[in-house]
Formats: sequence, structure tokens, C-alpha cells
Amino acid sequence: MIHLHQPQVGQEELAAVAEVFDSKWLGHGPRTEAFEAAFAEHLQVDAEHVVFLNSGTAGLFLAVESLDLTEGDEVVLPSPSFVAAANAVVAGGGRPVFCDVDPRTLNPTAEHIEAALTDRTRAVLVLHYGGSPGDITRIAELCRHRDITLIEDAACSVASTVDGRPVGTFGDFAMWSFDAMKVMVCGDGGMLYARDPDAAARARRLAYHGLAQPTGFGYAQVSSRWWELDVPEVGRRDIGNDLTAAIGAVQLRRLPELVARRREITELYDRELADLADLSDLLTPPPLPAGHTSTYYFYWVQMPPDIRDDVANELRAAGIYTTFRYAPLHKVPAYGAGELSLPGAEHAADRTLCLPLHPGLDDADVHTVAAALRKSVEALLHR
Ligand SMILES: *Cc1c(COP(=O)(O)O)cnc(C)c1O
Repeated sequence: MIHLHQPQVGQEELAAVAEVFDSKWLGHGPRTEAFEAAFAEHLQVDAEHVVFLNSGTAGLFLAVESLDLTEGDEVVLPSPSFVAAANAVVAGGGRPVFCDVDPRTLNPTAEHIEAALTDRTRAVLVLHYGGSPGDITRIAELCRHRDITLIEDAACSVASTVDGRPVGTFGDFAMWSFDAMKVMVCGDGGMLYARDPDAAARARRLAYHGLAQPTGFGYAQVSSRWWELDVPEVGRRDIGNDLTAAIGAVQLRRLPELVARRREITELYDRELADLADLSDLLTPPPLPAGHTSTYYFYWVQMPPDIRDDVANELRAAGIYTTFRYAPLHKVPAYGAGELSLPGAEHAADRTLCLPLHPGLDDADVHTVAAALRKSVEALLHR
């Protein structure tokens, strides 16, 4: 089976884990702090802005919780978002309001966002589809202008930039995911960024039971009763640990190499599928605008809706796993969007398929996928 995603972990990650075992310190500790510092440097920000968590989803929940939403407050998000984004809005007491996207990039433009704003909008929550930064510069301007908080779900875009500036730093909050399917992995893990250091400090507190002060060993140096509790606000337990941080630190060092191979695979798919794209039988991902770099998280193709499902099933039968991300959330009854119609998101949802993309693929695998896709598309188009 050629998989859609596959984590790239090896001897270096194993050695880092062995070192944590030897230290007998598995919980939140020096490796967590080192990973946070390294990730902050990667973002070109100070370490006080970032918090290492046990998932990207925890980052979404903490970011929305930081808004202190009240009944009727709205958060605008593109309909093709990951399900956790809408869950975070609802759990945080808000109403998710879904906006449309460009049918080719699956990213919203500032105009799509603006069309969904009301006087109850408190925040906008956008991802960068497939790693492409999208219209983030203009969306950030719009949010600043309207005094609305911008949260970036940067789970797809850990290495994406616009004019050299890392995505995730355009808004007020951002999170990244290092789950097993992401570009860099640590088992399960996530990073939260907050532009306001006080918001980062509050998120750090909420992520560890709401405790204002640690109650552990280290705190014994400054308090004679280090076991006493100070809980200004109730919290949860969302923090990461030194085992996952140690893996994350190695993966972050390897990130340029991992992204470079993803880019090569993307370019190879583009070349392999160019003639089909010329005939408009199969659309390949739109080119990146000048000044944008991508993490190349997805390679998505688009085809007539009457053949898409059959193509996916034929490829699966041939040992090639494909899927569609992200199924439109305005169609999920639990989020209460009713009969809302979003033509761009629906157009994309009927036509798009994400192909296998990870550095474990060699050129022959990419050729196998492209050839099987070509065969299936051509046969089904002319049936
Ligand atoms: C993976 C992912 C998440 C959730 O991250 P976890 O670490 O799995 O909780 C959120 N948003 C997007 C876009 C993702 O791809």
C-alpha cells in the first residue's frame, strides 16, 4: 500500500528518546523548554510566546478559550476546515460561522472572510490549505482593521512563509500539530503561539490545571510550602512532555530536508500530470503566488465530479490510498449551519482528491501513483 502520509523517524529520533530514558525525566522539563526555544527561533519570536502541548487540537481549544466568548459570539472559519477547529469554537461557547473558499486553492480570500463578518464576530480562524499561505496577509489586515482576533490553524504549514515571514505569526494566535500524519511529528504534540505574552502565559496556566505556580520539586527552592495550590482559573492538562519534545527537536532540525523532498515530489507530480492538466481533464494545485513558500502538505488534484469517487476507489484497489481533506463543515448538522450554501467549498468537495505525499516515497512510487491516476481518469472519462 502506498500511504497518504508516513512519519519520517529514524536513528536520530531514537537516540534522542534513549537520552530521555537515561535521564529518568520523562515529563515536562528541560527538553520541553529547549524545543519551545528552538521552535520560537524557527518562528523568529521570543520563547515566551510559545507553549508546547500534547496536541494541535489542545492549541485550538486554548486559543478559542482565550477569547472569553459569551452567548451569541461568532467565530468565522472556512467550511473546509479540520473538524477540531469547529469543535474548539463550540466548546469555547461560540457559534461557528462558515465562509466560502476559492474552489482551486481551498483557501478563503479576505473577501470570503469579510462576507461572513457580523457585529457579533469576535474572531476569524483560518488554516493554510495544503501548506499554501493563501490570502493570509490581507486577512490579517482585515482583522486588524475590524479589531477582530485572528487565529491561524497552521497545522499544514509549519514551514510556510510570505515574504520570509512564517505563517502563524500573522495573527494573534496560532497552533501547529505534530501528530503522526504531519510534516514533522513527535507522536502526538502541538505548539501554541500567542502574540501577546500575557495570553501565552494564561494559556500555559490553563494547559496545566490552571495553576498559577508549579507545585513541584523546582518550586521548593522559592517556597517553603511548595505543595500549596493557587488556581486563579480552572484549567486542564494539555502540556507536552520531554519524550515528545525530544523527538520534536530532532524533527525541527530535519524540517528543511523533509520539506525539500516534499517539494521535489510535488514538482514530479506536476511534470507527470502536466499533459492531463493541459487538457483540463485533471487540475493540479495552482502555482504559489510570488513571495509565498509552502510546506507541501497536500498534493491535491481536481477532476469532474462524476468520476472522482470511482477514481479514489480504483486507486485504493490498486494499493494507492488517497483521500479528500477537508470535508465541508457547513454540511455537518452538529455545527448548525442549516441550509447554508457555499459554492466554492461544495465545488471543491465534489472534485478534489489528495494524493500520497511524504518523503518516504521514491520517484518510482510517485510515477506509480501518477500512472495509475492517469489510467483511471482516462478510462472513466471515456466510459
Ligand atoms: C492535524 C490537524 C489538526 C489537529 O492536530 P492534532 O495534533 O491531531 O490534534 C488541526 N488542524 C489541522 C488543519 C490539522 O491538519
